[in-house]
Amino acid sequence: MKSEESETDKRQINPDFTNQIETNSVMEYVSSITDTHRSAGPVGYKADTYLSQYDPHLKTKYNQFKVFQIFAVMRLYQDWPNVVGPLLAKQTRLLAIQPPILKVAALNSPCLQQLQMMKRQLLQKINAYYGKTLMTDIELSMYKQSYIKEEGVLAYGATQATETYERPLLDFEAISLSEAELATIEQVVTHISEPSMRETFREAQIKQYKKTKYLKAHGYHPCAHCDSLVGPTDTVCMACTLKAKEQAEYEYRQRIEAIKTLLFEQPYLVYDDVCKLIIPCAMADYQLAHRECVYFFRNRVIREASDDNYDIYMLLMLITHKKAQQLDKGFVQNAIKKMRFQYEQKRTHYERH
Ligand SMILES: [Zn+2]
Repeated sequence: MKSEESETDKRQINPDFTNQIETNSVMEYVSSITDTHRSAGPVGYKADTYLSQYDPHLKTKYNQFKVFQIFAVMRLYQDWPNVVGPLLAKQTRLLAIQPPILKVAALNSPCLQQLQMMKRQLLQKINAYYGKTLMTDIELSMYKQSYIKEEGVLAYGATQATETYERPLLDFEAISLSEAELATIEQVVTHISEPSMRETFREAQIKQYKKTKYLKAHGYHPCAHCDSLVGPTDTVCMACTLKAKEQAEYEYRQRIEAIKTLLFEQPYLVYDDVCKLIIPCAMADYQLAHRECVYFFRNRVIREASDDNYDIYMLLMLITHKKAQQLDKGFVQNAIKKMRFQYEQKRTHYERH
């Protein structure tokens, strides 16, 4: 048991991290979490006894020791399944904790896409775990299986673009490189002065060329947007697909936000009016933006019972598409009264069932 624990210890205090932590900004982040008066972890979170024995040290006289601060940050390696849940933990690998960046790999591409969509939620959970905003981004990637199966025998693993896990063994001897290819390699390696390093690099280059040659002979070709090879039936690699998706999602939200900004200024506008001001504007985009605006003000007026004239008139202008001066005072009072009454009725109905 004892030896197992010290193994964990070594893994937590990873030397790579010790080097990185020297930079001031990172130290600020790290200090900020250890300066809090409660232990790292979400409210009500119980650290296991082995780890929690360090908590008093974190708070008192050993606070100045970086090792405990690093330890507090590195605890996420251990607690990863608790933080993200057992299901996601099984499909992911926490590659590196480098505040403010977390590097996470997905074992398959559906999982990678799911992670991409959950990024914000995930960051919230992780920061809740630390009790401070320690991480600002999660770098996602596909988990790369090692190319090397056994000494001397090389195989290529699933490329990022494919989910197939077939790994044909590559017979490097059987693949020959042309004079021109060998010359290109020679030209690159000649810049390395140290002989053994040059030899290692040359070997690696040759293998890389051969692997590329093999893949190309089997229908693999470069991605439409970058140099990475993709499978015969694919046109764009996984990384580029995700990047494009992220970009499209971002542009979509920008469009919605632009419509919302316009509706905040002129809440009475109908779809046709918005179309003249924002080009292009799809009906669905307008409907979403309008709905989000209505929800925003309905929440204020009905659920939070705001009697602020601004909130009330914004809500009614959005719903009726009439300007404030066109709204009769009696109508406004009645409409709000009615909406609050309906909300109250629904609420009691839900509470009873
Ligand atoms: Zn690509």
